[in-house]
This record gives sequence, structure tokens and C-alpha cells, in this order.
Amino acid sequence: MLEFQKMSEKELQSLKAELTEKFEACKAQGLKLNMARGKPGADQLALSMGMLDALNSKSDMKASDGMDCRNYGEPDGLPEMRQLMGQLMGLPAENVIVGGNSSLNMMFDTVSCAMTHGLAGEKPWCQQGKLKFLCPAPGYDRHFAVTEYFGFELITVPMLSTGPDMDVVEKLTGSDASIKGIWCVPKYANPTGITFSDETVRRFAALKPAAPDFRIFWDNAYCVHELTDTPDVLLNLWEECRKNGNEDLPLFFASTSKITFPGAGIAAMGASEKNLNTLREHYKYQTIGPDKLNQLRHLSFLKNMDGIHAQMQKHRTLIAPKFEAVEKTFQEQLAGKGIAEWTKPNGGYFISVDVLNGCAKRTVALCKEAGVTLTGAGATYPYKKDPNDSNIRVAPTYPPLAEIKAAAELFCLCAQLAACEKLLEKA
Ligand code: PMP
Repeated sequence: MLEFQKMSEKELQSLKAELTEKFEACKAQGLKLNMARGKPGADQLALSMGMLDALNSKSDMKASDGMDCRNYGEPDGLPEMRQLMGQLMGLPAENVIVGGNSSLNMMFDTVSCAMTHGLAGEKPWCQQGKLKFLCPAPGYDRHFAVTEYFGFELITVPMLSTGPDMDVVEKLTGSDASIKGIWCVPKYANPTGITFSDETVRRFAALKPAAPDFRIFWDNAYCVHELTDTPDVLLNLWEECRKNGNEDLPLFFASTSKITFPGAGIAAMGASEKNLNTLREHYKYQTIGPDKLNQLRHLSFLKNMDGIHAQMQKHRTLIAPKFEAVEKTFQEQLAGKGIAEWTKPNGGYFISVDVLNGCAKRTVALCKEAGVTLTGAGATYPYKKDPNDSNIRVAPTYPPLAEIKAAAELFCLCAQLAACEKLLEKA
């Protein structure tokens, strides 16, 4: 198949007519699929149902230290849960606070705390004038939304195959004290699926930001979410920061949302003692403690890191074929046409597609018209503004495998139709 850009106007017209006919036929099938959010499928949720049998009215409800988990107490979380979440994030248990079910909630709370009360003895962010936050893009829309909500100016940092462009990060943070943080998904990034290189992690650990209260928000949401036998390996930022005496710089986040249940998992954050004390002071007014019965359930079900890896292997068995189905369809229908590039991640929840510039919104709209909902075009950029209108995040985990192929085929059809329209506009 000829590259679209090399086609004559006449060839494009006839291709467009052919694709439109196929599109109308697809529409008539009345598909109703959702590839918008990184949600586990029902079969994945079923994997953790055994966890609900861990506790019943006969259980003694005690933690290993004898703590009655039905009662108030243990605001940092059960010691064994702190240890497990610490292992997941790469820090010692004493540097971990276990929260409720959502790590995004803990990120929001951390920004909120810094806004109103400041971090580690510095002035509250809200008293420091107009502030900025670095947003590597394409990135996670809900990260960007948190800092937009709090009134930050969002600064786009290009995402490379090694992670955020560290030349840009070093230059900006080194010279501008109004920059207070950066969002990072260091392993199997949302949506590009890349893992930060060792050099990127080392450069993060060695940052010398102009702002003493600048923080790296290290959201390791996909730290054990492998799709292959050759997993990416992420260097431990905590260890690297400690080597540089920079342990106040990073804030770590993770959850079991995509290990057990997104609606009822366990979230945690990790940080230096100094940072944690600031946050403890904040949480102390907010809650008398997290849900320790859910922690008990998780400990009984997952047990340890081996248990987590075994559980992730089961997830992989269910979702890797979905990723493969999408990739195969893309390869068959889009490769060599010069109108799309896509990622082939070793883990995580997303495939990131760059369609022809100026075609992302139209592709998403066409998919919607024919019954497949995708993440809004632009969502992967600050202010939902993709300067090239090119990036689309595809989340293959939620629809059943049988329907994934139909959804991916429709995507390819719509991306091609949008490209034809765009090229004809220019012709
Ligand atoms: N961080 C990233 C990078 C995510 O992709 C998601 C979910 N899509 C979250 C955080 C949400 O995590 P939680 O369920 O723990 O709030």
C-alpha cells in the first residue's frame, strides 16, 4: 500500500470513498466499546475475589503486632503493609504512609498540603505568587488536572524514549524558583509505556532546583505491571537521591488499584522523614486512620512481593493478548502508510498512537460516531492541548478480547479516513 502522502488527489478521493463505505458499514454494526480509561476488565477484577474471603465475622481482625484493626489507630498503616508498599515503591517501611484506596488522592492531598501549609518548613505555595509545574507530555491527564485545579501554570516538557527531556528539566528547575514540581510516571509511563533510563533517574536524583520546596512526584502506578518476559528495570530513585544527600526531593506514590481492585485497593506514599512529618501533620487533622481491615485483606491475599508478582502474572495472561490484538491490527492496517506510529510497551496499561498531525481529534470523533469511545484527543497534554493534534491514548484492557479486534479495526479505519480528509484539505 502506497504511503498516503505520496498519493495523487484522485487516488486519495477514491481511497476516501472506499474508507467511507467501510466506515458506514462499521457504524451499522452498532458497536459500544470503551477504550478511554485504563480500567481492568471484569475478568481481571475476578482474580481478586478470593481476597474478600480473607475476613469474615469469625476472623480475629488482628495485625501481627496485636492491633485490633477494627478500631482507630496506626495512622501510618499496619507495619506489614508499610513494608509491602515500601518494597513496591523501593523505600524502607519507616518512610511509607499507607492511605486509603487511591494514590491520586494522596498526590492531590500532598499538593493541597504544600499549597496551604508549605513543605518542610518553607512558605505555603499559595503565598509564593504565581507558580509553575512541569508536565512531561504526552502524560497522565489527571496529574495535569490536579495542578491546573490548584492554579499552577503547566509547563510542557517533551517526553523522550528515555523519559522527560532532562536538559529541559535541569535548565528550568535550576533557574526558576517558581517551578515547584514535576509529574513522573517512571515505569511503563501513561501513556507512552516507556521506562525512565538509568541516566534519567540519576539526573533526577542529582537535580539542584532553585526552589528549596521543589518536589519530584514519582508516581509508580505501573511498577509491577509487566506484559512480557523481559520487563523494564527502573533504577531506584530513593537510593540515588540518598547518595546525593537529596532525599527530600522525591515523593513516591503507588497503589494496588491495578493489582487487586481499583475501587477498593490500597494506596501509599513514600518520602523522607522530613517530608512525611509535614504530611503527617496535615493528615492528622484529616483522618484518625485508614481502613485497616482492607489492609488485612490485602496482606492475607497478596502476602508479599512474590504474591504480588504471581497476581500480576495472572493479569498479564488476561491482558497481554489484548495488547497483542491491537498491535497486530495496527501493524496489518497502518504500517507503511506514513500516517501513524504507535508504541509497543513492555508493561502498563496503554498504547500511545501518534496519527498524522491535525488528525487526532477527527479520528477520536469518528471512532465515537461508530461506537468506540477513546480518551479525548489532547488529553495527554497540559490544558488538553496537543500542539500537533496527533497523540491518542489507547487503553486496551477493559473491552473483552473478542471485541478488541473490532475496536482496533475501527480505529485504523478512522485514522486513515481522517488522514485522507486532512491530505485532501491540503491538496
Ligand atoms: N497514576 C497513574 C499514572 C495512573 O495511570 C492512574 C490510573 N489510571 C492512577 C495514578 C490512579 O491511581 P489510584 O487508583 O491509586 O488513584
